[in-house]
Amino acid sequence: MYELGKNQWDSPKLKELLERILPKKRILNDYEITLDFPVIGKKTMLLNARQVDSKQLILLAVEDITEQKTLKLNTDTMTINLIKQRNQLQQLNETKDEFIMLASHQLRTPATAVRQYVWMLTQGYAGAVTKEQTEMLDIAYKSNTRQLDIIEDLLRVAKVDTGKVYLEKTSYDMGKQVELAMNELAILFKGRDQTIKYNSPKEKIKVYGDPKLILMVIENILDNAGKYSLDGEEITINIEQADGYTTVSIKDNGVGIQKADLKKLFGKFVRIDNKLSTNVKGTGLGLYWAKEILKLQGGSIYVTSILHKGSTFTIKTPSK
Ligand code: ADP
Repeated sequence: MYELGKNQWDSPKLKELLERILPKKRILNDYEITLDFPVIGKKTMLLNARQVDSKQLILLAVEDITEQKTLKLNTDTMTINLIKQRNQLQQLNETKDEFIMLASHQLRTPATAVRQYVWMLTQGYAGAVTKEQTEMLDIAYKSNTRQLDIIEDLLRVAKVDTGKVYLEKTSYDMGKQVELAMNELAILFKGRDQTIKYNSPKEKIKVYGDPKLILMVIENILDNAGKYSLDGEEITINIEQADGYTTVSIKDNGVGIQKADLKKLFGKFVRIDNKLSTNVKGTGLGLYWAKEILKLQGGSIYVTSILHKGSTFTIKTPSK
């Protein structure tokens, strides 16, 4: 064997390994060797050898693994490149999130100042205002409120995305949070002549988590239920506790969502066209934020809906 071809096999290391098989009863296990052959060039071989029965014979298996090796090398390089690209994208994403956070912060202060001064003008702090001026100032005030709402939405989402939401966990009553949300939105619902049917639980629904964030999630979903329902409609809220989880479901008889759109709902900046969406203002960030906040607390959110009939959004969070 050592004399085959141009004596390529005559390797001292291989010789040593092969020659101790018989006297020392050793085996050669997956020994890799790369040799330079005439015509076919460099090849990598995998060698396995052992004694045949008890005879003074060695059975040597030679497998050409050159292609496998090249393939593995290529896959390894590709994997390294992909990891590099993923890290770069992650970094870009983080930079973008931080930029949004910084920009929203910077925008909030001047926008709040505009709000204060417009309000002072409408209140006559700089002298009497005519009816026409009041109307214009009202529009400015509304636009500015909308601007601040968008900034708040962007800030909230940027905080979630940069991992800057810190939970303040405590024991609280879910029923109370639902009532707080209802009170907060009462004027909006009244303005649309919509009613809320709340099947208030007899006892306290004790939950351990962050009550402020849960309140904001409930407000978000309840606000949507009203926004995407016609005037005069009824919204139903139910609370249940089972299997270590507390669920709050908010059911509306509104515009509903078609099946194909249900999966998209919880993405960022997603707004589904419906007969109310052109008049209803929104950023498409509320549900994404709600989903992420619930995830942070070990909970989830899901929806069932029938187009033109209505939707039920359910918030689920661990009770303990
Ligand atoms: P926004 O309300 O600001 O657009 P959301 O993230 O809260 O953003 O909601 C995303 C989209 O999901 C909305 O634009 C709307 O199309 C749809 N949606 C949310 N809640 C409801 C609902 N109760 N009924 C019908 N569609 C809804």
